[in-house]
Amino acid sequence: MHDSKHGNVCPFGSVVSEDEIAKSLYEVGGHYDKRVGFYVNNYVGFVAESQYRKKASSGGVISWVLAELFQKGEIDGVIHVAEGRDSIFEYQVSESLGEIIKRSKSRYYPVHFNSVLKKVLGNGKKYVFVGVPCFVKSIRLLSANNKDVAESIKYCIAIFCGHLKTKAFAEMIAMQQGISPDAIASVDFRVKNLKKPANKYSSQVFFKNNVGEIEALPPVSTQKLYGLDWGLGYFKPKACDWCDDIAGETADLSCGDAWLPETVKDPLGTNIVIVRNRIIDNILKEGVDRGSLVLRVVSVDKVYESQAGNYRHRREGLSVRLKDAETQGAWTPMKRVKVAEHEEVEARRKKIYRLREKISRRSHFAFKKSKTKSNFILFMVRMLPFELYYYFLNKRLFRGAVKLLYQYAQYLIRRIK
Ligand SMILES: Cc1cc2nc3c(=O)[nH]c(=O)nc-3n(C[C@H](O)[C@H](O)[C@H](O)COP(=O)(O)OP(=O)(O)OC[C@H]3O[C@@H](n4cnc5c(N)ncnc54)[C@H](O)[C@@H]3O)c2cc1C
Repeated sequence: MHDSKHGNVCPFGSVVSEDEIAKSLYEVGGHYDKRVGFYVNNYVGFVAESQYRKKASSGGVISWVLAELFQKGEIDGVIHVAEGRDSIFEYQVSESLGEIIKRSKSRYYPVHFNSVLKKVLGNGKKYVFVGVPCFVKSIRLLSANNKDVAESIKYCIAIFCGHLKTKAFAEMIAMQQGISPDAIASVDFRVKNLKKPANKYSSQVFFKNNVGEIEALPPVSTQKLYGLDWGLGYFKPKACDWCDDIAGETADLSCGDAWLPETVKDPLGTNIVIVRNRIIDNILKEGVDRGSLVLRVVSVDKVYESQAGNYRHRREGLSVRLKDAETQGAWTPMKRVKVAEHEEVEARRKKIYRLREKISRRSHFAFKKSKTKSNFILFMVRMLPFELYYYFLNKRLFRGAVKLLYQYAQYLIRRIK
């Protein structure tokens, strides 16, 4: 595939679509649905053996598959995101079972794979790459252009993605608990609350104290923290609004959270799983047979249902954004979603998609100002009218306003303490 069409390895700038890449990899023997791309099987479930589930963000399936691929000698290591040296989180190479398992959990933090690829390319070893869908697409495009990448990356695993977050997301969580952005040592974005449903998780901040020691704040429920409603799209990079790949369509395996009424009640977390590679599907089936995994086959409708809001924003919402860009004569990446689809979108929903763009844009500047002045309440106040309007458009103004009051009150209580 080395030609000028495939020469651009930017997942947004490239004219090669996710469909085109996935077709070359998974068309043979795979089913196709435009919501998830090609697939062999879809599952809902979790890891039953050992501590995988407990230590993971969701059901632990990603860490378990990584460990199985490693133990079976399919790979020599894993390229994934963990705590870093130069930044709070970075892409890291794990070449032992201990490291692979220890580096579970979701990091909602900006990362790049430049240095880590430089480290492994040409060393003769085989790796599995873990990334959000656009990162996996980029690895696929790179592999088509660079023989060393193609030889090193044997498998790709995608994490379902709503959108990426800038550093401000971690800083916002820390700042509202009295920790200055410079003092953040780490953030556990997903601490399970064993008495609450899986989506009512907590976040925990670790910070460097005055004498340079690392201390931990107690985990705080995300219900009590301001700005953690992912629907608002705080600190979302603009690129994410051009993405239509929710399910990591160019990956051998994709895992997300099964946000379904029948599974969300379980505080330990449950995965939604899409398999495109038969070797991985066989590993999962073996796992089920020996009782290591609890998985049930589900339809694409279930996958969609578990991420419905995400699909609406990234598919019908994208048609609205494409139309707006066309009206303004602005450049847009080539997308599978068509401009004409915006005609089907209800007027109120169009307003929601447009408001989300404004909210994301404003959140970057509002937070920067609030950080410069070391005053978190400034950020909350600047975002208030937008947030209220968002709840109004979503027909939950009363519930939204009560939630905001509660979060403001929680913030003030923490300040007084
Ligand atoms: C930015 C972001 C947005 C997300 N949005 C959604 C969403 O909208 N819907 C949804 O269902 N799920 C979303 N997820 C995925 C979800 O948070 C879980 O990661 C997923 O369910 C896997 O759970 P698990 O228990 O199997 O993973 P675990 O067993 O906990 O393993 C997670 C693995 O992913 C690696 N990892 C963590 N963060 C990153 C990263 N940023 N880049 C690359 N590798 C990483 C870890 O090193 C680890 O190997 C998102 C994740 C991220 C990072």
